[in-house]
Amino acid sequence: MSTPGTEAPVRTRIAPSPTGDPHVGTAYAALFNLAFARKNGGQFILRVEDTDRTRYVEGSEQQVFDTLRWLGFSWDQGPDVGGPAAPYRQSERLPTYRVVAERLLAEGRAYHCWCSTERLTQMRERQQLLKMPTGYDRMCYGKTREERAELPGFTEVPVVRMLVPAEARISFTDLIRGEITPPQPDDQVILKADGFPTYHLAVVVDDNAMGVTHVIRGEEWISSTAKHLLLYRWLGWPEPQYAHMPLLRNVDRSKISKRKNPAARLKWFQEEGYLPEALVNFLALMGYSMPDGKEIFTFDEVVETFDFARINPVGPVFDIDKLNWLNGHYLRSLDDDAFLRAAEPFLPGALTAEDIRTLVVPLRERTKKLSELAEQLDWLAADAVEVKPADLAKHGLPAPDARTALEAFAKSLEELDPFEGAQITATLDRVVAELGLNRRRSFMTARLALVGKPVSPPLDDTMIALGAQRTVHRLRQAAAALEA
Ligand code: GLU
Repeated sequence: MSTPGTEAPVRTRIAPSPTGDPHVGTAYAALFNLAFARKNGGQFILRVEDTDRTRYVEGSEQQVFDTLRWLGFSWDQGPDVGGPAAPYRQSERLPTYRVVAERLLAEGRAYHCWCSTERLTQMRERQQLLKMPTGYDRMCYGKTREERAELPGFTEVPVVRMLVPAEARISFTDLIRGEITPPQPDDQVILKADGFPTYHLAVVVDDNAMGVTHVIRGEEWISSTAKHLLLYRWLGWPEPQYAHMPLLRNVDRSKISKRKNPAARLKWFQEEGYLPEALVNFLALMGYSMPDGKEIFTFDEVVETFDFARINPVGPVFDIDKLNWLNGHYLRSLDDDAFLRAAEPFLPGALTAEDIRTLVVPLRERTKKLSELAEQLDWLAADAVEVKPADLAKHGLPAPDARTALEAFAKSLEELDPFEGAQITATLDRVVAELGLNRRRSFMTARLALVGKPVSPPLDDTMIALGAQRTVHRLRQAAAALEA
């Protein structure tokens, strides 16, 4: 697809702010920006927007790189890989923004404002009280420093504001949403008293300097786009095209935030044991649909089919059940070695390599996320387990039979030598047959006695992992507890 009206090679970007744990929205934006760039043989840029020094968090930039790479994403230009428009950190580009702010001042598009924070707060409170539209009241506009200094609420170091014409009414054609006219902007600050640009100035200067042709970002930026387009027009720079992605939402349809939803943190997915392929598939599914409607697909398939018309602008709900389902699918498609490699960080410490292979591999079939493995295997490291009467009633034998079976199992297993898979199963089968009990319920009774829950690897593997002594001891303990 060529971009209508321009021959420029496609360039997209994400512009995360290093303000803490990387947000899931950053991965979501990266996915679609990268897919569109790849589809068009273009480039994908990562730029760090670190101009808000009050919210800057040390180390957060590296975490963004790490989590995006974990997802399999790569960028053609960025702070860590360099590129023709370096530097890619806004804090390293300050002189560039100052030059542009000076130009806008000289051309009458911007003006200095010396209003103190207190004065601006009072102004806003009064506007709210009188139910007036909020926005800067232009007290400083048209005044020299000396004139302004005579008036109340003056500070020494000014900011620079855009002089937004009344009824600017900027419209644009969004690639996902069609024609949009955001609300009238007010006189936005573009250069702060600390000499740093605000997001609005920096984003325009950088997108232009980096030759960004398509800005694909969250819908919360729609109203900012009006300010950005004004700046492009004043500066005579080519405007990029915009696509505003739907916001990811909680089940109650509120915006996903780190305060409300742990899944807003990208690292949460790593901690919980989701595979990167599953998360990429899940994020793509939030808003994007495949031509054939299938739900399981790879990033490359998103690239092949990419079309803004396939993005649904209505905020997709973050459906963890769907993610669990997808992750289960991806876990089951791993071979034994790959599954064990992925599982390793989640396993309880006490496992031998032998245990790991026999116990963990069978769990793959019923694991939705790898963090469940620790709980599924906690019985192995535990000193003792407890049989819950409700579990016994549901899955096991009635108490008197349960006691008989557990004692008989313990006695026969105690004499077993060697303590190995086929012999163990044969022994258990023989005991069940002799006692004339239900095999499934008898085995489940033993399982509850050994692991304290109705789910475990095959019974012989469970017993081998525990060893003969602990197996016999737990069976007897459970039998004794039933007697009490
Ligand atoms: N720094 C903004 C953010 O953190 C970037 C918004 C944009 O893509 O223009 O989301």
